[in-house]
Amino acid sequence: TTPASQRPTRIVVDLDHLTFNLSNIRSHVGVPVMGIVKANAYGHGLVPVALHLQAQGVEQLGVAFVEEGVALRQAGITTPILVLGGIFGPQVAQFIVHDLEITVSSLDKLRQVEAAAQALGRKAVIHLKIDTGMERIGVHSYSAKSFIEAAVASTWCELKGIYSHLACADDPNSPMTAEQLERFLEACEHISRLGAPMPLRHLANSGGILHFPQTHLDMVRPGILLYGVLPDPASQPTVTVKPALSLVSQVVYFKVVKANNPVSYGATWASATDTRVVTIPIGYGDGYPRALSSRGEVLIRSQRYPVVGRVCMDQFMVDIGLDSAWNEDEVVLIGEQEGQRISAEAVAERAGTIPYEILTGLNDRIPREYR
Ligand code: PLP
Repeated sequence: TTPASQRPTRIVVDLDHLTFNLSNIRSHVGVPVMGIVKANAYGHGLVPVALHLQAQGVEQLGVAFVEEGVALRQAGITTPILVLGGIFGPQVAQFIVHDLEITVSSLDKLRQVEAAAQALGRKAVIHLKIDTGMERIGVHSYSAKSFIEAAVASTWCELKGIYSHLACADDPNSPMTAEQLERFLEACEHISRLGAPMPLRHLANSGGILHFPQTHLDMVRPGILLYGVLPDPASQPTVTVKPALSLVSQVVYFKVVKANNPVSYGATWASATDTRVVTIPIGYGDGYPRALSSRGEVLIRSQRYPVVGRVCMDQFMVDIGLDSAWNEDEVVLIGEQEGQRISAEAVAERAGTIPYEILTGLNDRIPREYR
């Protein structure tokens, strides 16, 4: 074992919950699923999560960069993988060599991919990216006709998919999603008019899966929902999911802090009375946000206690008042302890951000365990 793996701070991933979530998403949508495993599988660990999803028969995996796709191929993953991000010229050959599907987001990029495929003597598998309102990568739906025609006619590219991305699907009341769907289907019409076979049309992220059944089309692309976290904690979930990730640590130090003696950098917090303060060995250098300074909370012995003072790089302090805690007591930062729960959504809200940022921010200093 490496020293890192003996850290009292660790992420525990419940693979049965991933299975449960995938299976519930599947029965809700009734179409193939592309499991989104970019950003270290939303902090859950790229390779172990991808291997597990593959064992569960997920039809496709989605990553952000070619490097993430290559890591999956090197780990022996054989499931089709789409790289969702834009491509850079010098990297195109790597996609083809490693059998990674390419997001083609402009006519120029189509030509680059064709040239690389021809040079390698091997067809590239591509998905066209249509911009229906994100104003991110992709050809605007209203000017996609010639782009689509060129892709359909291409000898060196196999057109496997066409897709777009929803900007507001986490809000069930946003009119934007219906507009984006309409623009997307109009772009797909160009393919029908050419009499070419329709590639896989995919549009729905977690929000689309939950709130907009019309967006499910031929395949869905869940990220956060697969991990058991809702993109919109406020709205009613239409799919039951269980959070797969817990973030736990242990008390490493206990002391009595006298009244009015400030705790941590900047001396921003002090107790009005003598109190008991414990130190937890995780900090912003691990991805536990500094924004939780005097705002976060943790579970120790199934009680909730506040984070006090500034979160440091590798440690932070918790006020346990007059209660007792012992060195090595379990501390839950995200997850459950004897019926009490702290969700990633709740942590995000306290930190003034979204659960996506909390989960993907948990970095490789934290060892991961799979159950
Ligand atoms: N599809 C694309 C193109 C994405 O960029 C993402 C993530 O941002 C997803 C799907 C998954 O999104 P979510 O985690 O909201 O399901």
